Amino acid sequence: MEPIKIATQPAKRRRIGVLTSGGDAPGMNGAVRAVVRMAIHCDCEAYAIFEGYEGLVNGGNMIRQLHWEDVRGWLSRGGTLIGSARSMAFRERVGRMKAAKNMVLKGIDALVVCGGDGSLTGADVFRAEWPSLLADLIDAGELSPEQVEPYKVLNIVGLVGSIDNDMSGTDATIGCYSSLTRICDAVDDVFDTAFSHQRGFVIEVMGRHCGWLALMAAISTGADWMFLPEMPPQEGWEDEMCSVITKNRTERGKRRTIVIVAEGAQDRQLNKVPSSKIKDILTDRLGLDTRVTILGHTQRGGAACAYDRWLSTLQGVEAVRAVLEMSPSSPSPVITIRENKIMRTPLMEAVQATKDVTAKIEEKEFDEAMTMRDPEFKEYYNAYMTTATQDDPKKILPEGKRMRIAIIHVGAPAGGMNQATRAAVAYCLTRGHTPLAIHNGFPGLCRHHADQPVSSVRKVTWLEADSWVNEGGSDIGTNRTLPSADMENTAKCFELHKFDALFVVGGFEAFTAVSELRQARAKYDAFKIPLVVLPATISNNVPGTEYSLGSDTCLNTLIDFCDAIRQSASSSRRRVFVIETQGGKSGYIATTAGLAVGAVAVYIPEEGVDIKMLSRDIDFLRENFVRDKGANRAGKIILRNECASGTYTTQVIADMIKEEAKGRFESRAAVPGHFQQGGKPSPMDRVRAMRMSIRCMEHIEGYVGKSRDEIAADPLSSAVIGVKGSQVLFSPMGGETGLEATETDWVRRRPKSEFWLELQDVVNVLSGRTHATSNE
Ligand code: ATP
Repeated sequence: MEPIKIATQPAKRRRIGVLTSGGDAPGMNGAVRAVVRMAIHCDCEAYAIFEGYEGLVNGGNMIRQLHWEDVRGWLSRGGTLIGSARSMAFRERVGRMKAAKNMVLKGIDALVVCGGDGSLTGADVFRAEWPSLLADLIDAGELSPEQVEPYKVLNIVGLVGSIDNDMSGTDATIGCYSSLTRICDAVDDVFDTAFSHQRGFVIEVMGRHCGWLALMAAISTGADWMFLPEMPPQEGWEDEMCSVITKNRTERGKRRTIVIVAEGAQDRQLNKVPSSKIKDILTDRLGLDTRVTILGHTQRGGAACAYDRWLSTLQGVEAVRAVLEMSPSSPSPVITIRENKIMRTPLMEAVQATKDVTAKIEEKEFDEAMTMRDPEFKEYYNAYMTTATQDDPKKILPEGKRMRIAIIHVGAPAGGMNQATRAAVAYCLTRGHTPLAIHNGFPGLCRHHADQPVSSVRKVTWLEADSWVNEGGSDIGTNRTLPSADMENTAKCFELHKFDALFVVGGFEAFTAVSELRQARAKYDAFKIPLVVLPATISNNVPGTEYSLGSDTCLNTLIDFCDAIRQSASSSRRRVFVIETQGGKSGYIATTAGLAVGAVAVYIPEEGVDIKMLSRDIDFLRENFVRDKGANRAGKIILRNECASGTYTTQVIADMIKEEAKGRFESRAAVPGHFQQGGKPSPMDRVRAMRMSIRCMEHIEGYVGKSRDEIAADPLSSAVIGVKGSQVLFSPMGGETGLEATETDWVRRRPKSEFWLELQDVVNVLSGRTHATSNE
């Protein structure tokens, strides 16, 4: 991610307005909070415009200054606390004239608009008309030239708040992952009933023009069939759907049938495909006891998930930076995200690209619409199709090109490990490879060689793998032991089972294991096969990636814990909770969770803890409690990574705070421990597990037909897949420029440079604890 540079002195003091518009989305409050606090931090004033554009048109009390304390606790609140509306008045020039007058009267010359493509189009129209609106206001005698003079230039910055994820140019919109979480929770619950009664469920999710929610829900829940607006099924889909479902139930032994339908589902002639029609087909043709569940508005509300809190906060900060950096001629930007990189894109380009997708769908150019949606979308679609339909004879490789691909989990369990394995198995079966699960890591592999009666290397069937679709942890078993514990035997087992490739899912141990195997290639030919690591660890400390499977699940579990514990101190209690997070010597989880819960301070091993820091933080808490009088009063959170300091333990810090508070507030230590590994994986970990796992399989397949020496000579034959900035790519382990030599801090078991360190600044700025890093 780009370093977040925080300006402290803008060229000119500004009044920045912020509004939320269109359908509400979880995370909008986080965006408003970030805009308000970042604006104040940058010596600007922040104004909330209540009820979207309606408030701008009506003015008066609907445009109010917000202060630092006003947005306390907003990160965890659902919906939008400043209200949203669909304003007919703003669609008319007369309405926009009133809006312009209100802005000048309030002295606001920059607007951050959080909404969907309609809201952003409205914002762009407003900016384009701004000079003429002001001229008309002068002509009409409503404003004087002197009044207008300081406001000649209007800056607009867009934030995309929408649960549908329907904006081109960004991987995610604020709210889409929260909504997906709600959907997956509901489908996971329906699963149990569907299984018990061997029923079919047709589940309708939101998405009138965009199938992102439906597609991701189908991937996350292993749906049998799905309907997306942008990729209608082929003619005769009724027969095909029935045949796939029959096959899943009879040959594959599935007891439950799930069909996910986007609200805007349609056929190739653009006729709506209603859920009721799908239900009737399943009931009449297959005699399946089928129910329809329309999830409706449950998908919209509720608190934002970790990703939406993180995204809305960083994008809100970036929006203020953009306002302060814009020149009168720069096009209005919308703040986007590509993989892990927050970016700025010309607003109208993104809006136009979104409209182009809708136009392509109307022209029945479905393939084009899919490609134009965003680069990830088609990849996810193909990934889903790989798992849903595995018997396309065209995809099977000829006999000589099929591989025996071993799958192993190494290290602690993490959400997404099962889903990555499930996707790898699906890919292998589709292509004719043999997926071999190694049970219980390297010791499991070697135990077998020592003549154990039960083999720990087994071919995985689809029925077995499919059942892992929403399960947490590691079903095949994971183990921390490295191959160096018995390299000789490990090599023998590789030969014995005729492994052609090894797919390793795990954390820093997985990385170390592959490093050891790569180095042992000099002695053992058995390791001259593709060795690929898919990082999966809640610590997110694997070199070569900014994201590891399981870290999102962990963050969601942690923020639920923090929200609940903080709530316990609402009403009269003035309490600070010092919460200990996992993460080993990496402060990633603590910092990102700190960002997502609005922690007062975060203590991480990378910075350490000392007495001056604690003393300043206690002073800061004291001031904080004095100011903390409003309705949003609740407990305050300090997050401390388990390895932040050997001396200042979580309990010691809590005790010191209590002692120093001298009765003005109290303090408690809390340790969520293994609770952080989470139950069911978050949808983000599930969908990314599938996508990255399939990429790994494709990478491995690229070595088909190569000799062992050719493989060993290719640096990418031992590699880590990872998110780096705006890309997903493979990085070689070995060689002069490989991860082992250049990017790994072996002693501290983390990457040498950690992309997220600058997030500490954001946590500090938004909590008001700006003294933290000036730790002389
Ligand atoms: P969602 O994705 O939830 O539909 P949206 O932002 O696309 O969100 P819209 O109803 O299209 O929702 O737009 C919200 C508001 O933005 C409208 O009520 C209107 O006030 C304003 N708006 C939309 N399009 C325009 C436009 N072309 N000109 C002026 N204002 C507009």
